[in-house]
Amino acid sequence: MAEVLVVVDHAAGVVRKPTAEMLTIARRLGEPSAVFIGPGAETAKDLLARYGAHKIYAVSDPEVTEYLVAPQAEILADLVEKTSPVAVLIPSNPAGKEVAARLAIKTNSGLITDAVDVQAGPETTQSVFAGSYTVKAKATTGTAIITVKPNSAAPEQSPAPGAYEEVSVTLSDAAKAAKITASEPKKASGRPELTEAAIVVSGGRGTGGDFSPVEGFADVLGAAVGASRAAVDAGWYPHTSQVGQTGKQVSPQLYVAAGISGAIQHRAGMQTSKTIVAINKDEEAPIFELVDFGVVGDLFQVLPQATDAVKAKKG
Ligand code: FAD
Repeated sequence: MAEVLVVVDHAAGVVRKPTAEMLTIARRLGEPSAVFIGPGAETAKDLLARYGAHKIYAVSDPEVTEYLVAPQAEILADLVEKTSPVAVLIPSNPAGKEVAARLAIKTNSGLITDAVDVQAGPETTQSVFAGSYTVKAKATTGTAIITVKPNSAAPEQSPAPGAYEEVSVTLSDAAKAAKITASEPKKASGRPELTEAAIVVSGGRGTGGDFSPVEGFADVLGAAVGASRAAVDAGWYPHTSQVGQTGKQVSPQLYVAAGISGAIQHRAGMQTSKTIVAINKDEEAPIFELVDFGVVGDLFQVLPQATDAVKAKKG
């Protein structure tokens, strides 16, 4: 069966959820092989095998992580040449998309970004123009290079051999053109990453700058916290938490919008969420046009009650 290369999404060696999602998707297309670039592959190999990796290509040469993304594209281009995969699945984050674009050029292949589903073919589904169109696409040249958005599949285990292979690399001078001079990990909030979270609770201008009810509800649900642009522009929440056209695009199982009016630019980042709930004291707020459940009320009363109710249910 043809190989499908899955580029492992990890942070300092810790495998992130989109990897398991992509391995699950890869099994629809062929035999998944995980490509682990950076330190930590040894520790991750059991997990990768559990989610269906028949092979694990480990590139642990520390030199590779000293540069920006160019070496990754070079390594993947070599692997594509050696293995002739049916597709390469890459996490749809800014670095992943840059790697994918470089890889597509190097291998003269078709590139599809931000897929929300991939089926045999491989045929991808994308949600475009703020979710108002669904597009199906196929790469017609070379190997299908596809970046896959988080939450595009429910991860399913399917144990496979996970044959471990160390891949040695010799980087070209071009791949070493931009060197990392310093890097500092983000301070951990204890909450899931916004774009990967199964539940997102967002606050807007209606919070008046007090995000504590939003955070309280998010924490009881194990959710990430998002914010509208009005809230981040006011300095109430970090810009990295902005959801929308010029912020992050999220597609969780559940999205809760509290004190957010539902401007088109906000919708662009969240309207593909599976279930949408809004709390707004104005019953005419446009957000109510797209919700599955709407609560007309003051978020400072509704959210604490909802938090207590979830706590009580959990016992
Ligand atoms: P508002 O529109 O002011 O709405 C606040 C809501 O809170 C109101 O509906 C009000 O009824 C309700 N409310 C007030 N008090 C309470 C309370 N106590 N309890 C419950 N409800 C209450 N916006 C984004 O979010 N993301 C983007 O990426 C983005 N990109 C943009 C790009 C461009 C080019 C432009 C022009 C705009 C962009 N915007 C974006 C801004 C967008 O147009 C809106 O201005 C913004 O989303 C409004 O944020 P909001 O809903 O929090 O505030």
